[in-house]
Amino acid sequence: MPWDVCDVNDIRRVEEDYINLNPIQRAGVLTSAARKALISYGDGYSTCDLCLKPFRLDKITKPPIGEFYQGLADWLNMDVVRVMPGARRGFQAVALSLLKPGDIAVGSVLSHYTVFLAVEEAGASLAEVNVDENYVIKPEFLANKIEEIRRVKGRDQPKLVILSHVDYLFGNVHPIEELIKVSKEYGVPFLYNGAYTVGVMPVDGKKLGADFIVGSGHKSMAAPAPTGVLATSSEWASKIFSTTNMKGDVSGRSFGIKETHLLGCTVMGAPLLAMMASFPYVKERVKRWDEEVRKAQFFIKEFEKIEGSRILGQRPHLHTLMKLDTTASFDKIAQAHKKKGYFLYHELDARKITGIFPGATRNFKINLYGLTWDQVRYVADVFKEIAVKYNLTLSE
Ligand SMILES: *Cc1c(COP(=O)(O)O)cnc(C)c1O
Repeated sequence: MPWDVCDVNDIRRVEEDYINLNPIQRAGVLTSAARKALISYGDGYSTCDLCLKPFRLDKITKPPIGEFYQGLADWLNMDVVRVMPGARRGFQAVALSLLKPGDIAVGSVLSHYTVFLAVEEAGASLAEVNVDENYVIKPEFLANKIEEIRRVKGRDQPKLVILSHVDYLFGNVHPIEELIKVSKEYGVPFLYNGAYTVGVMPVDGKKLGADFIVGSGHKSMAAPAPTGVLATSSEWASKIFSTTNMKGDVSGRSFGIKETHLLGCTVMGAPLLAMMASFPYVKERVKRWDEEVRKAQFFIKEFEKIEGSRILGQRPHLHTLMKLDTTASFDKIAQAHKKKGYFLYHELDARKITGIFPGATRNFKINLYGLTWDQVRYVADVFKEIAVKYNLTLSE
């Protein structure tokens, strides 16, 4: 039975059997409430039992979807929120609303590929802001980039800035408030990419001054794919969430308040209800972010005791996502090992740790979000144990 994806002998049990360090998966692990919601709302358009006039997803009151949307907006301290099928669909809706062919948007050398694609689809191009020696975006780099674009394009300055508070390559925390301030000074709307922040740490849109906040449900909100959020201030809401004006030329039909860039209704059924089920838990867990950072810093301290091993990027490191550089430790072992780079993956696997990229020993990313102190200690001990097994020295 090739399509029996729940074959008991081959069922996915990564989270049950392993400590999973996969950089993109840690904060998307579901709550048990979300798992229940997946089952009870699994049928097709299950959310639409009581979709009454004016017929739009965010107007449904049973289940309380409208209330959830308002709850999300209040929590992010923004005016209007829509649930989107992933952060990328948030970028897309904003890019298609704000950019015209030939326009320039500003991202960075750390921008996620989906930012490029969203800008490309709108016919615009993306200019990259560079980073400093620690891979951090400095506010003056953004100012210089905007100046440079103005010089080349005359008065035609960039139409949108999209930057991540925390980037996916190093887990660096960029000076987002200052970056937003620079963008404001030039009058360029700012999209705050919170794929690695919304759902794990407190995010206050008004305090940040962001025009748009985008988050990822499956990356950081204990929700299944495809889910995400797009939040905006009331100033922008009517542009981004503009409603249809079309009329069928033969039928004369029109479509009420359906939102054009969202194609009417976005995430429905089980993924939305699972995201809702996790929301109360997510609201609580962001308050414990400092503890998560302390666990990450403890791990780094232990990991760097292994001769030739270090983390890349900012110090002190301020996020649970991190990039480890083991060129001068595990990679040296890999050179001589019969399994080459795969040895590390197998050594970890044998100790029930998974999620690092198979074959990688020069540098690789891990994420410790949500692991208990005992699990974090265990992961650090395992790395040290493997190091000792292959005759690397540990410093005290
Ligand atoms: C993961 C990620 C995205 C894409 O998120 P989706 O919800 O899968 O669309 C975008 N930007 C950054 C920085 C990311 O890490």
